Amino acid sequence: MVLVADDDPGSLLVAQAAVERSGHSCLTASDGDEAWALFLEHQPDVVVTDWMMPGLDGLALCRAIRARTTDLYTYIVLLTSQGSRDDVLAGLEAGADDYVTKPLDPFVLHTRLLVARRVTTLHADLAHYRTMLSHQARTDPLTGLSNRLKLTEDLQQLHARSLRYGEDYCLAMCDVDNFKRYNDIYGHQAGDLALQAVGAALATVARASDGVYRYGGEEFLLVLPRETPQGAKEMLERALQAVQTLNITHSGDPTGHLTLSAGIAAFADYHDEADNVLREADAALYAAKAAGRNRVAAAP
Ligand code: GH3
Ligand code: MG
Ligand code: MG
Repeated sequence: MVLVADDDPGSLLVAQAAVERSGHSCLTASDGDEAWALFLEHQPDVVVTDWMMPGLDGLALCRAIRARTTDLYTYIVLLTSQGSRDDVLAGLEAGADDYVTKPLDPFVLHTRLLVARRVTTLHADLAHYRTMLSHQARTDPLTGLSNRLKLTEDLQQLHARSLRYGEDYCLAMCDVDNFKRYNDIYGHQAGDLALQAVGAALATVARASDGVYRYGGEEFLLVLPRETPQGAKEMLERALQAVQTLNITHSGDPTGHLTLSAGIAAFADYHDEADNVLREADAALYAAKAAGRNRVAAAP
């Protein structure tokens, strides 16, 4: 979609006809303020704007569009009068991509719109890949859960919020029991399938506001915002139950099937860093392991 802004009605009509003949739908504005309002409402791919207009002039419009932080790129073409080199320079410096001199030649505008389409398509592709790569970088390929990078980001945010507003949260470090032996007995591929099943079971037990992360290897981390230690303990008991219910045979484990251990730690205002809560959850996990595995332990 192309937005054309010009305070001269004749010039506006010529530009609109040229834009539509080039196969684009066209919005028109007869001054800079109207152009800005239409821009915000419709997010056009291309803006063709006059230089001198009441309200926002072309220069201010360019600056306003470029000041926005968004993935969508707007291609801006300035309409300038003949021989105004300083205006052209100022416009391009303010963020315009191109300029066309008045009186407008429809053929010239048509050629500029071809280039505009190529550039906006390129920007849309870049935005798409950027989003995809960012998601990929934060996802564990085996389980499809969020990975440690995402955990670091999310936990930092949650911790800062908790410090500021005094909200509680709990962390639960979970670790598959005797998993090395599971790999030894059933093979690495079966181990991978088991990790996928455990990850899915944890995701099923978690609420929408909880975070489930693959921390590394056979370790998973649950982030439970606004949860009390008692609530976290009950939830983790359900998680362990869910893993048992998977009924994955494990002849190398005393129970005969695959089990999970978990250590819980709760945020308290003396925790200046999320890493300290994490460390306590890890220590609690070791206590659960030492006490015989397949159980939940809470940090003192
Ligand atoms: P514990 O009950 O004390 O946790 O004993 P464990 O054997 O589970 O712990 P240990 O740390 O000795 O072994 C973890 C094993 O997890 C070793 C490693 O090969 C396996 N593992 C880690 N990541 C993966 C993976 O992505 N796929 C598979 N199949 N195995 C993995
Ligand atoms: Mg004008
Ligand atoms: Mg283990």
